[in-house]
Amino acid sequence: MSRRVQSYESDEIVVTFDPSVCVHSGACVRGLPAVFDVKLKRWVRPENAPAGQVAEQVRRCPSGALQYRMTNPD
Ligand code: SF4
Repeated sequence: MSRRVQSYESDEIVVTFDPSVCVHSGACVRGLPAVFDVKLKRWVRPENAPAGQVAEQVRRCPSGALQYRMTNPD
């Protein structure tokens, strides 16, 4: 996997992933498998859940490898 920061977006949220920071806890995959699926090449699919739920899961990432920003904060 590339060590560069990856970016995945839906209409509402942008999720970034920094592979050099990930500690492979698996919290993201266990917590929201519809969005985080390491079997897929595009392994983060934020469009598969409400943006609030995606953001909540990202905040649970223990390493900070996952970050997010809302596209339309209003
Ligand atoms: S929750 Fe964060 S540290 Fe754990 S596997 Fe996912 S991205 Fe990596």
